[in-house]
Amino acid sequence: MEFKGKKVLVVGLGKSGLAAALFLRRRGAQVTVSDVRSAQALGKDLPALLDQGIAVEAGGHGLLTFRRQDLIVVSPGVPLNTPELAQVRNFGLPIIGEIELASQYLKGKTIAITGSNGKTTTTSLCGEILAAAGLPVTVGGNIGIPVIALVDESREDGWSVLEISSFQLETTQTFRPDIAVILNVTPDHLDRHGSFENYVAAKEKIFANQNADDALVLNADDDVTHRAAARAKSRVYWFSAKRVVRQGAFVHEGAIVYRASEPSAPEFILKLDSIPLKGSHNVENVLAAVCAARLAGVEAEAIRAAVESFRAVEHRLEFVASVNGVAYYNDSKATNVDAAIKAIAAFPQGIHLILGGKDKGSDYRTMRPLIQERVRTVYTIGAAAEKITTHLEGAAPLVAAGTLEDALQKAAESAKPGDVVLLAPACSSFDQFENYEHRGRVFKELVQGIAQVVPSR
Ligand code: ADP
Repeated sequence: MEFKGKKVLVVGLGKSGLAAALFLRRRGAQVTVSDVRSAQALGKDLPALLDQGIAVEAGGHGLLTFRRQDLIVVSPGVPLNTPELAQVRNFGLPIIGEIELASQYLKGKTIAITGSNGKTTTTSLCGEILAAAGLPVTVGGNIGIPVIALVDESREDGWSVLEISSFQLETTQTFRPDIAVILNVTPDHLDRHGSFENYVAAKEKIFANQNADDALVLNADDDVTHRAAARAKSRVYWFSAKRVVRQGAFVHEGAIVYRASEPSAPEFILKLDSIPLKGSHNVENVLAAVCAARLAGVEAEAIRAAVESFRAVEHRLEFVASVNGVAYYNDSKATNVDAAIKAIAAFPQGIHLILGGKDKGSDYRTMRPLIQERVRTVYTIGAAAEKITTHLEGAAPLVAAGTLEDALQKAAESAKPGDVVLLAPACSSFDQFENYEHRGRVFKELVQGIAQVVPSR
C-alpha cells in the first residue's frame, strides 16, 4: 500500500495505535489520531505525535473526522460497533487493525498464537526456543511490542513470533501466518463479542487465509479447536496432553514426543518433570510451543534447553514468597473463569482463593466442583463480589473482603503451614486497578509487607 499523501485515521491511542500512527506518518501519510479519552488522559504520548505532524482529536470523535479519510486503522481496544465506525462502513471505507497493516510489511516467516488462555506464556516460550536454536527471531503483538514496531527490524531469513488476541483478529483481512496456533477457546470477552459464536469466529480468523503451504496447530483436547480443523485449508497438526495424535506433539510415558506424520515413530523431545512451570495447563502450552518450533525446523535439543531454563512470565501463576510455610502465588492474569480453574487445579488442596474484580458476563458456577474439592476459603473483592457469592454459595466458605488488601490480610490470618494463598481472580481488574499488572504488583507488595511483619520461624 502506498501511503504518501493518503489520509489515515487511527482510532484509539493505545500502544499499537501510537506505533501505527508513527509508522504511517514516516511513510508520508496525513495522519489523524482520534480517541474518546481527554487530552489530559492521553498525556505523555501527545508531544511525540504532535512533533511528527500528526493531528490529534481528544475527548471524543467527530463524525466529519471519519468522513474525510482514505483508510481507518482501529486499535484493538475499540469496539467495532460504535456509531462512527458503523457509518463509515456504510460509506465503504476500509477499516483495518494494526496487525493487518503490519502483516503487509513484515519480512520473514510468522508464527501467530491465539487462544483464550496461555497466549503470552506460549508466545514467549516459542520465542525463546527459536532463539536457542540460533534463528533470528522477534517477539511481539498482544504480548507487548506492537507488530508494526517490529517491521523495520524484521528480516527475510527471520521469524516473528506473535501473540494475537481475538480483538486484533477482528480487524484482519489478508493476515496469513506460516504457522498459526489456537491453544484453546473458552468463554471470555463475551461483553465485547456479543456471543460465544462471534468470539470463536474471531479466533478462527487466524487461519482464514492459510493454504496447504501453511501449518495450523490445534488443541486436540478442546472441543472448539477440534471442530475448527474442518474449516482449515492448511495442514493441521495437533497437540494433546491426553491422547496420541496423528501428527503433532503429545504426552507419552512421562515425556513430550513429536510425530511429523503418521506412520513415522514419535521422536522424544523432553521429560515432563523437566518443565519448570506449575500446572497441567502449562504442559499444554509447552506441547503447543514444541509443535510450532518443530514445524519451524528447530531440533529437539534446542527445544529442551529453552524449556528447561524458562521461568513463569510475571503475573502467570508466579511464585511470590513463602511466609510461615504458606506459599503465595500471583496469577493476576487469570482474568477469566477458565484461567482461574487452571490455577486452582495446579494445587492439590488447602487453597485460600482471592476472586473478583470487574465481571465480564462470566458464569462462575463452573468453578464449583474444583472449589469444593480444593479451596478452604474464597475471599471476594471488587464489583463482581455479589455475583460470585450467589454463584458459589455453599461450595466453600465465602468471605466478603471488598479489597485486595483486606482479602490478603484475612487469608494470611487463617492460612496454615502447607496452605496456598492464590490470587486468581477470574475477572478483569479495571474496577479497582489500572490493569492486571497493577493488581499483581499490589498483591506482591502486600505479600512482601506480610513477610516483613511476620518473622519467619
Ligand atoms: P494469555 O496471554 O492468553 O492471557 P497467559 O500465558 O498470560 O495467557 O496466561 C493467562 C492465565 O491463563 C494464566 O494466569 C493462567 O492461569 C492461565 N493459563 C495459562 N495457560 C493456560 C492454558 N493453556 N489453558 C488454560 N489456562 C491457562
